[in-house]
Amino acid sequence: METKYIFVTGGVVSSLGKGIISSSLACLLKARGYRVTIQKFDPYINIDPGTLNPYEHGECYVTVDGHEADLDLGHYERFTNVHTTRANNITTGRIYQSVIDKERRGDYLGKTVQIIPHITDEIKRNVKILGNTGNFDFVITEIGGVVGDIESLPFLEAVRQMKWDMADDCIVVHLTYVPYIAAAKELKTKPTQHSVKQLQHLGIQPDVLVLRTEHDIPVPMRRKIAQFCNVSPDDVVQSADVSSIYEVPLEMERQHLDEIVLRHLGVQPEGEPHLEPWRRFLDKMHAANETVTIGLVGKYVELQDAYKSINEALFQAATYNDRVLDLRYIHSERLTEADVDEKLSGLDGVIIAPGFGQRGIEGKFTALKWCREHDVPTFGICLGMQCMVIEFARNVLGLTDANSTEMDHATPHNVIDLMEEQKSVSDKGGTMRLGAYDCALAGGSRVEKAYGTTRVSERHRHRFEFNNDYRARFENAGMKCVGENPATHLVEVVELPDHRWYIGTQYHPEYSSTVLNPHPLFLDFIKAAVAYHNEKK
Ligand code: GLN
Repeated sequence: METKYIFVTGGVVSSLGKGIISSSLACLLKARGYRVTIQKFDPYINIDPGTLNPYEHGECYVTVDGHEADLDLGHYERFTNVHTTRANNITTGRIYQSVIDKERRGDYLGKTVQIIPHITDEIKRNVKILGNTGNFDFVITEIGGVVGDIESLPFLEAVRQMKWDMADDCIVVHLTYVPYIAAAKELKTKPTQHSVKQLQHLGIQPDVLVLRTEHDIPVPMRRKIAQFCNVSPDDVVQSADVSSIYEVPLEMERQHLDEIVLRHLGVQPEGEPHLEPWRRFLDKMHAANETVTIGLVGKYVELQDAYKSINEALFQAATYNDRVLDLRYIHSERLTEADVDEKLSGLDGVIIAPGFGQRGIEGKFTALKWCREHDVPTFGICLGMQCMVIEFARNVLGLTDANSTEMDHATPHNVIDLMEEQKSVSDKGGTMRLGAYDCALAGGSRVEKAYGTTRVSERHRHRFEFNNDYRARFENAGMKCVGENPATHLVEVVELPDHRWYIGTQYHPEYSSTVLNPHPLFLDFIKAAVAYHNEKK
């Protein structure tokens, strides 16, 4: 089968969940046995979101091949169980960079370089990179932003051209919003009509409309929208608010979004998508009635999306442990010796979040000392693991001024230090230790038991490392280095074996936890938290 292209555009407002709709559609096509990938095209000028802070852009996701990517790629992986790569996330910055590089090489043979055709051709070339591998039946491309944004115009022009060039092999699914005006007690279709008009004005006729709504949209209203938008009434589906994003694929299946899309692409839908494993997950989610209470100590606690993958990995692990996740955010900047007891007692487990820089770091040490002394299941991720090491150095090894050179250049005890190859790096973008690296786990360790293997591969995003000069002192005092990179001997995992569950990973296991493949460390952490909860009863 020729690769088919599905574009997902958005109208009216942002944050409607194009990523979730794209992921849900991919999930359904995958459950029908098709090979599917999803890519995100972001209209901003940054080369990648790696240099954006979480206030701008939420979490930065990392692909196995070391690309710092939009957090929607996390949804794509969680919903489809398929790895994404650098090719799955393109920005305007990357498109321009590549066109400008070509111009400097002289590839345009003296021509004037313009948005049309040069930028749009480069966009189309990038859209097709994954499709051209022959590895996918369907390539879903989510266009970031909202129709009408100046910066998304070249992308939409490329979509228009592709639709024209490829006819039946390319469709557009447009996600729009139908607001409910409480004072009038009415749903309003006008914004949707306007946003479709805007698309049509750009030469794009959407094939399918997905209407985001907080209330059920009556059939006559859907017909009216269809009529005003040149879309068949059968091709209008609604996406009403649901209690969990993981319900959306089933909601879309109930309205046959997958079949509608297949028909538009000239594929006769056969049978039903195989959604049994997905349904089992949702059944567990609905059946759970006891909670597990986890505290997440970090400095971005007011931002919903800053720790997206950790939240989802915890939620998946809690669900598979038949528990409702009660996740409490604890602001590391406001955590002190005076209130740590009040803020942390009552928790069944604590996560110490990743991060950069000094702000909020002392609160992480305070939390860790308390967790270690009270033997609460504790999971340190990346900076969280580095903080575990520093806290142990300060309070157990007696190296009171131990630190990471990230926080204190002049520390006499640089238990966390910059990697040698990082010392000459001056550019901030894309220069960390990024992507998946092998890790050898010590036989008999808690992590080895949790994974059920001694060799794993996990994703990284950091510059600093455990300083191996101190390794023997840590191990003699009880903090074991139970995971290391087999080639470089960099320490990747530390644990306190005499504790209930006290583990820190230099890597980010949260990036690879999916609905159908929850991460073993998160599963084991929640299991330990549940056991601790039951012990306390
Ligand atoms: N700031 C730390 C480093 O660069 C940890 C990064 C992180 O938590 N992702 O090594």
